[in-house]
Amino acid sequence: MRFHRETVSVEEAVAKLLEQVAPLAIEEVPLAEAYGRVLAEPVYAAYDLPPFDRSPLDGYAVRSADTASATPDTPVTLEVIETVAAGEVPRHPVASGQACRIMTGAMMPDGADAVVMFEQTENPGQKLNQVNVKRAMKPGENIARQGEEVAKDNCVLQAGEQIGAGALALLATFGAACVQVRRRPRIGIVSTGSELVEPDQPLSPGKIRNSNAPMIAGMICDAGGAPVVLGCLPDEPETAKRKLADWSKQVDFLVTTGGVSVGDFDLITTLVEDPQFNLLFHRVAMRPGSPTTAVVYQGTLICALSGNPSACFIGCELLVKPLLAKLLGKPNSIPTTVEAILAKDYLKPCPYPRYLRGSIEVEQAVLYAYPDMNDKAGRLVTLHQNNCLIIIPPGGRGRRAGERVRVFPLTKNGQFCF
Ligand code: AMP
Ligand code: MG
Repeated sequence: MRFHRETVSVEEAVAKLLEQVAPLAIEEVPLAEAYGRVLAEPVYAAYDLPPFDRSPLDGYAVRSADTASATPDTPVTLEVIETVAAGEVPRHPVASGQACRIMTGAMMPDGADAVVMFEQTENPGQKLNQVNVKRAMKPGENIARQGEEVAKDNCVLQAGEQIGAGALALLATFGAACVQVRRRPRIGIVSTGSELVEPDQPLSPGKIRNSNAPMIAGMICDAGGAPVVLGCLPDEPETAKRKLADWSKQVDFLVTTGGVSVGDFDLITTLVEDPQFNLLFHRVAMRPGSPTTAVVYQGTLICALSGNPSACFIGCELLVKPLLAKLLGKPNSIPTTVEAILAKDYLKPCPYPRYLRGSIEVEQAVLYAYPDMNDKAGRLVTLHQNNCLIIIPPGGRGRRAGERVRVFPLTKNGQFCF
């Protein structure tokens, strides 16, 4: 089985994985803890926004008809009846010949139908009993109308949206002190490989640091999940199986890295030959990362990514993030692609679609996809700069600069990175 593997496409692999999970339960969190969580229910405007007619600037609320003849040389003089600060309610209606000194955000007084900004009056810094208005105002000018931004009961946020800064502002505006969100998926991260040393431990010859575990943890956070870094599997298969069984009880699913290939010590490959592991797939038509494997073991899904850092990153983006999306009830589990112009030749042929790390840059309103030439499966130094995966279709020639390619934007907190 190690050397004879059936291949599934990335799309088939994602479909097989998605069959294994369902959206998680709903829980309530305080607004202050809602950043990065995923809304479980739509949010509706609790009232009109703005909730009352208000002034969008500092000036004088007037009756526009009174200002019809006003110019800088022939200003119109109005009686100032009161000053209204933001948060106050005007006490007097504005009658003909009158004005109300009004601050940004303050409620409009009855009778007034325009606001003259201070800069269009004489001596704006002085609180006088009279004001000289230098400009003719149109009815409705400089008023933020009740409900002009959104009317009561309109849907303002959809279920499945990952809460970012803008959504927090909206939730706060409508008084959502608590928010209904999906439970955060707990994803166990398991490393394999006796060469691995944790970042706080000294290196010795032949060893490398475990960079995949924190990388995958970061990607899971980005997608709204809660990573649980569980440790390294021992090389001994029976002990490894016991550990996996133990860990699987603590999480929604497990991600392992490394040990999926055909090497003598590839632990996951050895483990999944055991019939206790229900195999979903063990070869995916993608480069890098074709030996990516998925199994169900004791009722828990295990997504076994390749150990090479780049392949591991791509596997997580293409296969693990859709699982998180479904658990979180996001509307699209399947990642979006966009079209871009390939900015440099990439002529390496490949029998499978190649997911080439790269960067999208916008030049004169056109998306250009720059391949990362440091893209080999084992390389990680430029990973932090990448904001997309460029899909090079399978076949014998690669793609030339100037050709159109599909590009898969990387996401953070549910948003594209460019
Ligand atoms: P494997 O898939 O186990 O054959 O690993 C492929 C390559 O990735 C090897 O060079 C490993 O040393 C490296 N590798 C495996 N796991 C990790 C990890 N957690 N962090 C960094 N490199 C890794
Ligand atoms: Mg290994």
